[in-house]
Amino acid sequence: MICKNCGAGEQTSNFCNKCGAGMKNDAAPSGNNLYSSTTPAPTPVSPGNSFSIGAILCGAISLLFFPIVLGPVGLVLAAVAKSKNEKNAVIGFVVAGVGMLVGMFFGAMFAGY
Ligand SMILES: [Zn+2]
Repeated sequence: MICKNCGAGEQTSNFCNKCGAGMKNDAAPSGNNLYSSTTPAPTPVSPGNSFSIGAILCGAISLLFFPIVLGPVGLVLAAVAKSKNEKNAVIGFVVAGVGMLVGMFFGAMFAGY
């Protein structure tokens, strides 16, 4: 049978030789309806915070390192977070923006400009 997870063909054991996914569930063709009815429902569409957290991390790091790079990255992540209606998107924006500006300010001071 063919691995549903990675598509590797002709697996002979109960687990995929390539990715280790279990092979039992896609065994019998007649079990297709049963299988699909017992498939776990897709995760509910509740806004996460992963992009917001990324933005906040980028902002925090850009206070110390590479504000010219990490600041815009943080802002982009915050924008993505905003587009996904993440709760902390605004915080991400603020932290990334402040991190970038303050990081640039300190960077300029230390550089002697
Ligand atoms: Zn596989």
